Amino acid sequence: MYFLELNNGVEIPQLGMGMAAIGSWQQDDEYVTEVILKAMSVGYRHFDTGSVYGNERALGRAIKESGLAREELFITSKVWDTEQGTNKTHDAFARSLERLQLEYLDLYLIHWPMPAYTRETWGAMEALYQQKKVRALGVSNFRKSDIEQLTTFSEVRPVCNQIELHPYFTQQPLVDYCQFHKIAICSWSPLGSGSTWSGVEAHEKPLIDPVIVDIAKNHGVTSGQVILKWNIQQHRIVIPKAESLDHIRNNFLLSDFNLSNAEIQAINGLNCNKRLGGDPDYVNQKNIMVKVPD
Ligand code: NAP
Repeated sequence: MYFLELNNGVEIPQLGMGMAAIGSWQQDDEYVTEVILKAMSVGYRHFDTGSVYGNERALGRAIKESGLAREELFITSKVWDTEQGTNKTHDAFARSLERLQLEYLDLYLIHWPMPAYTRETWGAMEALYQQKKVRALGVSNFRKSDIEQLTTFSEVRPVCNQIELHPYFTQQPLVDYCQFHKIAICSWSPLGSGSTWSGVEAHEKPLIDPVIVDIAKNHGVTSGQVILKWNIQQHRIVIPKAESLDHIRNNFLLSDFNLSNAEIQAINGLNCNKRLGGDPDYVNQKNIMVKVPD
């Protein structure tokens, strides 16, 4: 397993299981628990959920059923747009813990930037951090301007920024800015699948890009493994979502090969600024229509 040390000294497994829409959006039943248990049996210890994904209960059940010690796991959740603000963030965090049946989170993120609420939301998160209810605080989908705003009043620095990042959308200026300020990058939709929301055609997906397919052939691995290792070798956290056992296993087997610098640069060169998911410039109006389930 690969680990990255965050800027507050906490270690995070670089590969995590992305949990949006396992089964389907806001599905929270035994099927989801079984997928998570499968991933745990393969060796995954890092799970990335969010209150709006509606599957925190399924993750909580899997943690209980797995018998794994709490310290072996790294659990991330996120405060949704409609939960931002001082009291709402405290309530949202308490509800997440209750659904997960946990005493603390490893990482808590602001899911999307809402600049008018950031000061209050982050203040509540800092209080939770001081109370040791969460081991690290971070942000997601933050632009450079959002991070600059946050630094004007924050006492606790974000440890990471979880952003859309795949070979067709590398966001290099934002990545450079964050890494310069010791804010780790976590890549969402790393395989460029964008699952439910992209409407992207199969032939547009990086998984079948000829450059990546060739590199995969050279190493005797799959395109998915190449893309994940491309993230790991560039010191990023990466959270592919996979529910088929083949994908779950395949994505976990990354230690038997390394990409050369030339291969990494070739994949970097595929960037065409192709966003497949939501854009932080426009997404909030849509997001506030999306409810967090109880
Ligand atoms: P993704 O991880 O790029 O792609 C998931 C899709 O790829 C699924 O259809 C999966 O199939 C398939 N897949 C998985 N491994 C594969 C492999 N080795 N070969 C071929 N196909 C493979 O996209 P995502 O689900 O959009 O994003 C991943 C995670 O990022 C989410 O679950 C969530 O945790 C996070 N995320 C965060 C935000 C945010 O705003 N912070 C936004 C979007 C996503 P099967 O499931 O059938 O195995």
